Amino acid sequence: MSGPVLVVVERRGRDPVRSSLEAIGAARNLAGGTGLVAVLLGSDLEPAARIVASLGASKVITVPDRRFDTFHAALWAGAVVSMAQELLVSTIVVAGTTNGRQLTGRLAARWGAAAVSGVTEIASTPEGVLVALRPIFSGRAIQEVRLEGPRRVVGLRPNAFPEPDASGPVGTVEEHPVPELGSTPALGQRIAFEGAAAGAGPDLAEATVIVSGGRGLKAPENFRLLEELAASLGGAVGASRAVTDSGWKPTSYQIGQTGRTVSPQLYIAVGISGAIQHLVGMISSRTIVAINSDPNAPIFKVADYGVVGDLFQIVPALTAEIRKVRGI
Ligand SMILES: Cc1cc2nc3c(=O)[nH]c(=O)nc-3n(C[C@H](O)[C@H](O)[C@H](O)COP(=O)(O)OP(=O)(O)OC[C@H]3O[C@@H](n4cnc5c(N)ncnc54)[C@H](O)[C@@H]3O)c2cc1C
Repeated sequence: MSGPVLVVVERRGRDPVRSSLEAIGAARNLAGGTGLVAVLLGSDLEPAARIVASLGASKVITVPDRRFDTFHAALWAGAVVSMAQELLVSTIVVAGTTNGRQLTGRLAARWGAAAVSGVTEIASTPEGVLVALRPIFSGRAIQEVRLEGPRRVVGLRPNAFPEPDASGPVGTVEEHPVPELGSTPALGQRIAFEGAAAGAGPDLAEATVIVSGGRGLKAPENFRLLEELAASLGGAVGASRAVTDSGWKPTSYQIGQTGRTVSPQLYIAVGISGAIQHLVGMISSRTIVAINSDPNAPIFKVADYGVVGDLFQIVPALTAEIRKVRGI
């Protein structure tokens, strides 16, 4: 590859989000000697910039402007493309977040680049061709995509790349004036924002552990058992559609074909039968544990570990054991 690789870093509060750190790790390998540039947009960027500089970015560019504090796809894409043109980068890597998925296509369109999203592996050939792998057909096949042009945008799948360690040299942090944003559509006005419920744990897309519940929970108040198990593991709680359709949990919890697609390190399915529409949303999880009273439940066909039994006995016992082992 001829030019450096640019990573768009998102933040939650003052810290970079975990998916952005994964993007730094993925881009670090890809960049090789061509240089890795990270861009942060918004206000109070210094703490996140220092973290990113210690993780392998040769240069971290901060663009301090309060307009970027709220994610706006057109505004962010305009700024990032302007930076990419100025720095003559070859590749933009975007984290697999909700915002990142919005950015990938916009960046490619504005920059005139080839794009691929949902990527789980990337490499560059000696000829400079970027080769990306991505699961397709709900994880039943892996597609190889070759991007041969001079400009490419790569959107990653969450939890597919390890976070980088801080073993290498520390990069520089430079402040950059707000770039020319070109023709940016008028910004919409935010009329309301409903934050995640307090105590809901990490965002599902970012969570390394997800404890998901189905109709087997029998009543919404029994989700307390899963919340306690998730808390003991530092994880998030998800749900099947039977649960969200019943109004036991908001649709934002739903995992599956018409819900969220997740790929945590550990997915614990509790009282979920394993309908195909649920499986497509969690099949790429690293390790799947199923707890179900029916030994013939389809979830056991995809589970790495299965516990046949009554969740109302197993889940509290599991939580108690984890708390004991972890000293909670
Ligand atoms: C177009 C379409 C899109 C869909 N999209 C989605 C989607 O995005 N996500 C999704 O999840 N579903 C989706 N569905 C619905 C899907 O087909 C299933 O109906 C749904 O996943 C079932 O949810 P469940 O496993 O919680 O409930 P059930 O299928 O009723 O399973 C409950 C399970 O709990 C077990 N159980 C009961 N009591 C206990 C106990 N005490 N201890 C342990 N286990 C117990 C039972 O053995 C059973 O296996 C979709 C369907 C359609 C048609």
